[in-house]
Amino acid sequence: MADQEVPGHNRWHPDIPAAASTDPGTDFRMECLDWTNGQVGNNDSANDIRDMDLDQSHVLSGPIHVNGAEPGDVLVVDILSMGPFPGPDTEWGYTGIFSRQNGGGFLTDHYPDAHKAIWNLRGVHATSRHIPDVRFVGIQHPGLIECAPSADLLAEWNRREQALIDTDPDRVPPLALPPLANHAILGILDGSEYDRVAGEGARTVPLREHGGNVDIKNLTIGSRVYFPVYVEGAKLSLGDLHFSQGDGEISFCGAIEMAGYIDLGVDLVKGGMERYGMNRPQHMPMFQVSHIEPRYSNYLVFEGISVEEDGEQHYLDARVAFKQACLNAITYLKTCGYTDEQAYILLSAAPIEGRISVSSTFRTCAAPSTSRRSSLSGRSSRRTSPPGPRVKATWRWRAREG
Ligand code: ZN
Repeated sequence: MADQEVPGHNRWHPDIPAAASTDPGTDFRMECLDWTNGQVGNNDSANDIRDMDLDQSHVLSGPIHVNGAEPGDVLVVDILSMGPFPGPDTEWGYTGIFSRQNGGGFLTDHYPDAHKAIWNLRGVHATSRHIPDVRFVGIQHPGLIECAPSADLLAEWNRREQALIDTDPDRVPPLALPPLANHAILGILDGSEYDRVAGEGARTVPLREHGGNVDIKNLTIGSRVYFPVYVEGAKLSLGDLHFSQGDGEISFCGAIEMAGYIDLGVDLVKGGMERYGMNRPQHMPMFQVSHIEPRYSNYLVFEGISVEEDGEQHYLDARVAFKQACLNAITYLKTCGYTDEQAYILLSAAPIEGRISVSSTFRTCAAPSTSRRSSLSGRSSRRTSPPGPRVKATWRWRAREG
């Protein structure tokens, strides 16, 4: 990305220059690299995941300056269309399990080593040569979408995240990432301005008040986002396009990651932050998600409780409960013939639903299911199969499962 005539960026800072400008009421197309700046290949080795240079991520397209936008306004963004770049060499994506030493993931204690699956993207369907007999409908969405922070907001992020790092500076994976000049891409900035912004710019992994790494699996075509505007021109950016993702994107690089295009429309609500009550210090953008969804009607639900694997009970800990729900689902998927890593990747990349109950703190993880009599597309569908739960409407069972 750094070699482009007008590069995008991979840090947050209000002084990254706009790459282009547009008026409210206009539609336009943006093109995006995958979030790693093209570090992952369409091959059968996970070495590129293991050796990933995470200092380069996430590479983002923009910022787009929206004429007339001022702090206090709300920027309305419509997602009109998106997809991988058309063509046999570009209609593919990947899901990775990052090693514990380099990125980690939600279940890194159970899956400390790097792993990868390549997906073939055809129309609305994803299939993978690395997870045979699986085919599902993806819900495409941008993993990252956001407006630039103000200088004050950026300073607050750096303050609070450094305070968190200081509680356990040697932790692996780290609790947060401080600003880092290495591989910082900051649009056309150079010289002393580049050095200053690189030294202050926030990293892109956390979700923050401007949006950022939102990873909402249903934020697809037909969705609308209401962004608080913190700087003149709003400075809209996005990237990390996903062909599909389960709630939680649990393996960290857990969506079907792809390069591609996205068509957007923008508009402005002057004074919208006051009007919609978005002035609370930690207020987030509001997301009106699309009606478009695969037509799954049955789900197999796995619950988890806030008790660690060693029996330690926590109080209303949704993270622990979700982990247990995921581990229960993976354990079940392994009885269907998937390996550990295949099951983890499926749970991360397919459109899995996650739910949370704060009163009793269980967390559920639901996978689309189908009746045992449904067509298995020519594969084994013998009716002599034992009664038992079935996951996935269009994830086909292996023959020996029939
Ligand atoms: Zn992603």
